[in-house]
Amino acid sequence: MPGLGQAMKTYPVYLNGEWLVTTDSVGVVNPASEDIIGRMSQVERRHVVQALEDAHKAFAGWRQITGRGRGEILERIADEVHRRREELARIITLENGKPIAQSQGEVAMAEDHLRWFAEEARRVYGRVVPPQNESKRHLVIKTPMGVVAAISPWNFPLVLAVRKVAPALAAGCPVILKPARQTPLSAVTFAECVHAAELPAGVFQLVAGNAAEIGREFLDNPLCRKITFTGSTEVGRKLIAGAAARVKPLSLELGGNAPLLVFDDCSLDDAVKGTLLAKFRNTGQSCIAANRIYVQRGVYPAFLQSLTEKVVALKVGDGIDPQTQIGPLIDRAAVDKAAEHVNDAVNGGAKLLCGGHPLKREGFFFEPTVLADVGRNSLCMFEETFAPVAPLTCFDTEREAVALANNSDYGLSAYVFTNDMKRMFRLVESLEAGMIGVNDGLPTTSQCPFGGVKQSGWGRELGREGVDAFLDTKHISLQLD
Ligand code: NAP
Repeated sequence: MPGLGQAMKTYPVYLNGEWLVTTDSVGVVNPASEDIIGRMSQVERRHVVQALEDAHKAFAGWRQITGRGRGEILERIADEVHRRREELARIITLENGKPIAQSQGEVAMAEDHLRWFAEEARRVYGRVVPPQNESKRHLVIKTPMGVVAAISPWNFPLVLAVRKVAPALAAGCPVILKPARQTPLSAVTFAECVHAAELPAGVFQLVAGNAAEIGREFLDNPLCRKITFTGSTEVGRKLIAGAAARVKPLSLELGGNAPLLVFDDCSLDDAVKGTLLAKFRNTGQSCIAANRIYVQRGVYPAFLQSLTEKVVALKVGDGIDPQTQIGPLIDRAAVDKAAEHVNDAVNGGAKLLCGGHPLKREGFFFEPTVLADVGRNSLCMFEETFAPVAPLTCFDTEREAVALANNSDYGLSAYVFTNDMKRMFRLVESLEAGMIGVNDGLPTTSQCPFGGVKQSGWGRELGREGVDAFLDTKHISLQLD
């Protein structure tokens, strides 16, 4: 792939081991400048049908390779991602907008996922189960499900794609990846890394195009045995409805609305540092971003003051500048949504301590914002804001805090800042979330499960659970005499 910045270059999809530039393409926009930085090929439905057939053909060979063999290939992909890490980070920043240091972190995490699943490939264990009848023996074995379709979002364009592709490949499944329309170029570069690792043709393919139509083919075509999706709860619901006809298995990583609880007994500096990370990383556009912040009354004034001082000092700008801490949002609609949430909160009586407005410059920038005394029924306390907007309110008792935190249809992540061990255990057991950071603003790691409860999704990625999502469990019963 020639260097980015060639605005009129059309980037290819990757089908059955070949690169294809299609006649139809869409522009990819740099959200910091609003410039088109390249064009992405768009497939037609017939390409998706062919990709599923080619993947199905490749399945027979891929599943026969030992876990160790597949792991070695994943290691080769990881080596290639490592070799091209600076270029990958730059591409992520150009198409997504995030600060370059965070893009570098995303690439490092993607590499780590690849190496984790390379190791997991040889740990796809079954079990031998003691029989009830002495003439019988029972085995449980795990076999790869078959062709997997992976649909990924724009907010972490590389790592969230790898979080699906790597475990599917480790399990022995071929994968077809469909990245988000805003950020396909990181996926093209990742596909180049896969190509360089010499996977058999058809084992990994990349498509881009009309999401509803591609999704429909994945849902309707019986050759596609599983869909793994990360994105909004709204699209997740459509997939659930569409999967009904064929009872197609789905893994769903959907929206969040994470509560962050700060107790009087916390270490204030750690709580402010953790809140900055949980709220403002990726310019607030993370599914596990702290969306609503509840602070106990005793520490509320000091916490507000310290957080606001640090937020005011955040450097906003083009993510390519290494000094930048807050980049642009993904598009104009995201800026409008942030403004709507802030206005709604202020109209409801919240105090604007800093920020609160779109920046008057090119690009989709919104000022880092702190809101105090936000009404409990404000939009930003119920909907994902997906922007650098921190809404705060205070509470008195632990019971009240838990009730507020759990008063949501979502349950992806939650954050707790406390130094009381007993309280910590009470909280982690009662908070309705799939991941809880205790004095930790960034809980994600390759070796632990990632996913949510309630309307935040079905299933888990990463950890030991990551590969399991792509395996069928079979019971073998042996009659000996
Ligand atoms: P989105 O609009 O749901 O899009 C996600 C992906 O789904 C994109 O590739 C999109 O393609 C595709 N898509 C859209 N309509 C589809 C359809 N009818 N059938 C099949 N695929 C379809 O979400 P987003 O705005 O990109 O991402 C933000 C959301 O993702 C937030 O809610 C965030 O919380 C959530 N998220 C969750 C996690 C998690 O792990 N739980 C992680 C990150 C993000 P196009 O781009 O081509 O439309």
